[in-house]
Amino acid sequence: MVLDFEKEKLIRELKLKKPKKILIQLPEGIKKNALEISKIVEGLGIRCIISGETAWGGCSIAIQEAKALGVDLIVHFGHAEFIKTNFPTVYIKMKDILDLKPLLERSLKELKKYKKIGFSYSIQNQHEVKDIKNFYEQKGKKLILSEKVGLVEGKGHIIGCQYGGLKKIESKVDCFLVLGNRFHSIGASLAVKKPVILLDVYNQEVSEMDDIKDKILKQRAFSIEKLKEAKKVGIISEIKSGQIFGSAEILLKKIKKYGKEGIIITMSEITPEKIMNFYDIEAFVELACPRIAIDDFHKYHKPILTLKEALVALGEKSWEELLEEGIL
Ligand code: SF4
Repeated sequence: MVLDFEKEKLIRELKLKKPKKILIQLPEGIKKNALEISKIVEGLGIRCIISGETAWGGCSIAIQEAKALGVDLIVHFGHAEFIKTNFPTVYIKMKDILDLKPLLERSLKELKKYKKIGFSYSIQNQHEVKDIKNFYEQKGKKLILSEKVGLVEGKGHIIGCQYGGLKKIESKVDCFLVLGNRFHSIGASLAVKKPVILLDVYNQEVSEMDDIKDKILKQRAFSIEKLKEAKKVGIISEIKSGQIFGSAEILLKKIKKYGKEGIIITMSEITPEKIMNFYDIEAFVELACPRIAIDDFHKYHKPILTLKEALVALGEKSWEELLEEGIL
C-alpha cells in the first residue's frame, strides 16, 4: 500500500496562504517522509520546522509549539479538522492508495447473513467510498453511512472518540462495517450493540470485533473496581487543544465528596514513565483522549479510567447506563 501525502494540495495551500515559516505535524507512520516534505516546503522559499512530538489525532494541533517557534502556519497531516483553532492551520488528510477489491470480495463471506450494513471509514479511505458502495450494492447489500454527529468531518467518517453517528443509524442496520484499522473498529464495537466487522486495509484482513470487545469490557470493569477502592486519586489533564473531556476541578470536588484524596496533574502526553513517579497515587482518571485509558490498559501498572468510568466508580452512573450510552 502507498500513502499519498497530497503534495499538490500542500503546494497549493502554501502558495495561497503565503507563510514565511511553518510548523509541520506528521503522524508517526509518515515521519519517515519528513525530509522529503521539508524539501518541498523550503523549495517554495518557506522556512520549515518539523514537530517531533506525537500527533495522534486532529485534537493535537501544536498551537503552543507554533507560538513558541514564531511560525505563521501549522500544517497538520493525517487527520481532518477536529476543532476550530485560533491559529492558522491547514489539514492534509492523505490518501491510502491500494486495490481494495480483494478485501471487499473476502468480506462477503463475513457479511453473508447481513443485508443492511452501517458503514464508516477512516479519513485516508474517504476517496474510495463511492466505489465501495457500488461494489456492495451490486452484491445485493444496502450500505448506510454513519451520520455526521459530533466532531467527525461528514457522513461515514469515523474517529476514535466520536461514535454518535454510528449509534444514530444502529436501529436501521444489521451490522457495522468499518474500513480502516483496528483502532476505529474497536471503538465502534464499544459504542454499539450490533456486530462490528473490520476491513483492515493495512493487514488486508476481515475480522469481527466481538471477542476483543468482551475482553476490553472486563478490563474496564476491573479498573472501575480499583478506583472504588482507591483512597488517593490523580486527575490527569493534557494540554492539547482538543483533548478536554471534562472538568478536572468538578471531578476533584466529586472525588473529595466521596471521601478520597485527589490531585490534578497536567501532562503534555500521558506515558507510563510519568505516571510511575506518582507512586502514592493508587488510581488515575484521565480527561485527555479516552482511548489512552482503554487501549493502553496493559502499558500501565495502575488503573487509569475515563471520566465516564470514574462516574460509575463514584456511584453517579450505573455500569448498565455506561454500556447503554457506549463507554466512549
Ligand atoms: S481524542 Fe483521541 S480518539 Fe479523539 S481525535 Fe484525539 S487522539 Fe483521536
